[in-house]
Amino acid sequence: MHPIGMPSSSPQSERVRQIARVAWAAPCSAVGLFFGALIMLFGGRIIRASGIVEITWRDNKEACGRLANSLRFRAITFGHVVIAVTAEELDRMREHELIHVRQYERWGAAFLVAYPLSGVWQWLRGRQAYRDNYFEVHARLISAEQQSGRNRRPTNSG
Ligand SMILES: [Zn+2]
Repeated sequence: MHPIGMPSSSPQSERVRQIARVAWAAPCSAVGLFFGALIMLFGGRIIRASGIVEITWRDNKEACGRLANSLRFRAITFGHVVIAVTAEELDRMREHELIHVRQYERWGAAFLVAYPLSGVWQWLRGRQAYRDNYFEVHARLISAEQQSGRNRRPTNSG
């Protein structure tokens, strides 16, 4: 959104900004690609690649073994790489994970330190390291705003 009277950015400058965002988050994406490659070696797959690389282990929980189903965390984002246990879960959690992608685009490699530090800080305060983590709270807030925005604007596209 641009303030009234300001020239809107050209497609070229938006393209340059997107390349800069990808480069800024690249160290984190590299970590994701490393884990993603391991998952691929064991039969995982890339199910979509449109600016974001998404890697899943199986299609659904029924196709997972007991170990995969017992994992507490079902999806994780590293830069522009989103890894989920199943494609089904990724479909449900994509919106939330994309907010983490935006956080990586803002924080760059510092996110890999800031996120765990925020969790430790909450834990030291007697709160929950994951649920009360600043970045999770922020992601839930943005997600709720997006949800209410969609509910307010009736669209034909759904
Ligand atoms: Zn999250």
